[in-house]
Amino acid sequence: MAENSAEKTSNVELNWAKVGEKWRKKWSEGRIFESETQPHTKKFFLTVAYPYPNSPQHVGHGRTYTLADVHARYKRMKGYNVLFPMGFHYTGTPIVSMSQRIKSNDLELIETFEQIYKIPDEVISSFKEPKKIADFFHEEIKQGMNEMGYSIDWRREFTTIDTAYSKFISWQFRNLRKKGLIVQGSHPVGWCPHDQNPVSQHDTIGDIEPELIEYVLVKFKFEEQYIIPTATLRPETIFGVTNLWINPNIKYVIARVDNEKWIITKDAAKKLEFLNLNVSIISEIHGSDLIGKSVYDQLRKQHIPIFPASFVDPNNGTGIVMSVPAHSPYDYQALIDLRKDSDTLTKYDITVNIVPITVIHTDTFPSIGLSPAEFIVTSYSITNQNDPKLEEATNKLYSDEFHNGVLLPEIDIIGNLNVLKARDTIREKIINQGIGTTMYELKNAVKCRCGTSCVVKLLTNQWFINYGDENWKKLAYELIKNMEILPEEIRQEFVNVIDWLKERACARKSGLGTKLPWDNEWIIESLADSAIYMAYYTLSNYIRNNIDSQNSKDKVSADNLSDSFFDYVLLGKSNRDLVAKDSKISIQLLDKIRNEFLYFYPVDSRHSGRDLVPNHLAFFIFNHAAIFTKDKWPKQIVVNGSVLMEGKKMSKSFGNIIPLRHAIQEYGADPIRLTMLASAEILQDSDFSFDLVKGIRSKLFEIYRTISNHKSIFTTTQNSLDHNELEDTWFSSRIQHIILDTTAAIEKFRIREALHSILYLMDNDLQWYHKRKLAKNKSIRNIYLKEFFETRIKLLSPFAPFFCEEVWEIMGNRSFISIDQWPEADDSKIRLKSEDNERLIQDIILDIQKITKVTKIVPKRIMIYTSSTIKCILYKKLLERIQSQSTANFGVVMKEFVNDSEVKDFVKHNPDLVKKMIDDILSESLEVRQRRMKIDSFNELVPLQDAISLLISEIGNDQLEVNIFCEENSDKYDPKLKSKFARPYKPAIYIE
Ligand SMILES: [Zn+2]
Repeated sequence: MAENSAEKTSNVELNWAKVGEKWRKKWSEGRIFESETQPHTKKFFLTVAYPYPNSPQHVGHGRTYTLADVHARYKRMKGYNVLFPMGFHYTGTPIVSMSQRIKSNDLELIETFEQIYKIPDEVISSFKEPKKIADFFHEEIKQGMNEMGYSIDWRREFTTIDTAYSKFISWQFRNLRKKGLIVQGSHPVGWCPHDQNPVSQHDTIGDIEPELIEYVLVKFKFEEQYIIPTATLRPETIFGVTNLWINPNIKYVIARVDNEKWIITKDAAKKLEFLNLNVSIISEIHGSDLIGKSVYDQLRKQHIPIFPASFVDPNNGTGIVMSVPAHSPYDYQALIDLRKDSDTLTKYDITVNIVPITVIHTDTFPSIGLSPAEFIVTSYSITNQNDPKLEEATNKLYSDEFHNGVLLPEIDIIGNLNVLKARDTIREKIINQGIGTTMYELKNAVKCRCGTSCVVKLLTNQWFINYGDENWKKLAYELIKNMEILPEEIRQEFVNVIDWLKERACARKSGLGTKLPWDNEWIIESLADSAIYMAYYTLSNYIRNNIDSQNSKDKVSADNLSDSFFDYVLLGKSNRDLVAKDSKISIQLLDKIRNEFLYFYPVDSRHSGRDLVPNHLAFFIFNHAAIFTKDKWPKQIVVNGSVLMEGKKMSKSFGNIIPLRHAIQEYGADPIRLTMLASAEILQDSDFSFDLVKGIRSKLFEIYRTISNHKSIFTTTQNSLDHNELEDTWFSSRIQHIILDTTAAIEKFRIREALHSILYLMDNDLQWYHKRKLAKNKSIRNIYLKEFFETRIKLLSPFAPFFCEEVWEIMGNRSFISIDQWPEADDSKIRLKSEDNERLIQDIILDIQKITKVTKIVPKRIMIYTSSTIKCILYKKLLERIQSQSTANFGVVMKEFVNDSEVKDFVKHNPDLVKKMIDDILSESLEVRQRRMKIDSFNELVPLQDAISLLISEIGNDQLEVNIFCEENSDKYDPKLKSKFARPYKPAIYIE
């Protein structure tokens, strides 16, 4: 990457780095992004997840922040008093474990710092102290955010280990506890055995949220003294078990588990230990030694055989599986395969005389003597257990039985119950009888950032936030119901998360952060102390932490903050005079702080990556619902996809992690911002590439050069009284349309679409306008060119702020475009007819070019025939008919129109034309149809005659003669009788 960050042609130069520096300085001096209460101006408060400073930001991090900044800048130009603040999230164990890795001289980590992030060695060695890591990257990230042009009010910055922030979090937690939403008890959590800490998404490699599943263990008796437990998610199928599966190729252990002797895998023994069972291994036993023997089913009081199966995974459950061939396609197929495998049958001296036992009925599977599994395996034509279709068959059967299944009436205990009810009933029954228990396991393989594989741990005395509380869930549903979610398609994901969220560990024994206020051994974890901090931004600029002592009179000291202060400021509770006295501040200051909260809250928009939907964003919703009154509930969430680098996921192993600041140095911030946003719609992953950056950069430079070369038009007075020609009216109308369309796209965060309009569609318009003028030997009218460029730069400025400030200055402005007004479309300049005018000219040129290309004629004379009045009337009627009723069936339309006195004669004699006109209309977009509905009369002769010179120059033949006739014109030249084929918007053409 050795690009020169300046671009240059003979007379124009643009140095991205200098432009960036210049405007950062001016913005900072102008303090234009600092926001305070302005009672008479509408506010807009938006936030984005504060960064975790354990590495510099790379290109992948930039998308969410850039989107939020675009949003902030857009709203600012729309006249809102925008608050866009930023803090830094120090909480948790990752920074601490990182410093431990530095202490133990972890070469991989040190190399990453040296080679990818170019951090000097002396700085790396200071990282043995966790806070040094956080402070270093905090500054690094902040610099990067400034260099990216983010319009942040930095006066409100804080870190989550500041004293004042800790007081705020303590207040939040005492509040949740008072409401009964914090509980202590035994609960399963994802756990790192090395760090001895719960893990959540933030702590895992690849940012994977650990997902827990709960198995039911069914205890089968083996040789009187042993238990062989099988793990299942479908205990309701227990009456359909025909045999057990054991892997003959692996070692099992006999382990004392509490007071019983279990035969399980070694992995399972380990897992049970973390679930607080008393486990000690007595001896080993080989899987093959168990094959052919039988176990005793304590529920049905009968013996069932043990069969060999190499598909049994020792890492899954207990490493022993119960076989339900009537309801599990895998079990069914495995039995079929085993029956054919004479070597194995001989080796273990077993015979397979199994009849599947059907226990569940659904209407999907006919009772024709086949079990459901047999039926589905047959209908999928599955021939062996390695067939990939088995997975699909299994999913289909499981899902069908889960949703529609009922236990057969003859089944003991759970007969006639639906599957869900049966599952709960049998689970409870066998657990109560001591012939079953439960076991948690991770559904997905998750590794802690320290490299250790995670497990499920049953924590005792652990503190939990109880997201399973039914009343709380109700509030959370209510909150998101009233909230805008962009894009809307992701709403169901939120609903699902609220559905399944249960108790969640909220504190740990190590890491940075705030101590649990009533139990000092615990530290509040990072997804729990980041749920309502947006409120803290509204007052953080009034707080004096120990580190800064300036302006002390206007600030409240962190040491003097108490719960009653937060109660008053954030909830309007407690006594104002007492709070002021306790906080050692004036009543005026206290009022000011309270008013600032009331002014800026609620959050108008929260931006985040999609990966935070199942945790952070859900907690954001829950905690706001619990703590704040409804008028302070957040109003909008915007979710975006992630960033790929040249089509690949960014990762160290691909060597494609590009630190953001390096990229800015090489290419300038604006091209990078645009690349992040232009390559995908919001929920898709965007594909970042430096080719795209370069392409966008030259596009910007082209705009810059054009404007620089037209400088004078922005400073001289324009005469607006000249007569408008067709193309002038059209161009002016297009500018209004671009404003409307781009604004609508931004409002719905269709950013790719908005940028496409600004960067590319606008050029098409300008080129066409230029072409039309050129053909008439005239020049572009400066008044419109000026409007065009001013509009374009304004529309572009939220996306490319440095560039646009610079161009704005070249245009002779002495104000910041960042705080100028967003363009408003002028309705009076919108001319629907002019869009059709120019479209008709473009279409006719294309049609003629097509004909001459196919026929290879060098035309000397071209005749264009426009439609008769009756055809235009009919077209309008057809258009109205199609728009008002959904059907456009030709026969139906004909029947109707032969009774219409105005058009019946024409329709009767020209059914083919009617058919073609219907097709013409249907091939147009809804937008075009709606536009044409609004146009009273359209005379095609006008634009075509206006464009004769253009037609001649586009067909490229000086000798060419172009004549335009209406088909009704009796003087027309029409030797081949072509004019009768003319249709509205589709004139007929004849070439000689
Ligand atoms: Zn770990």
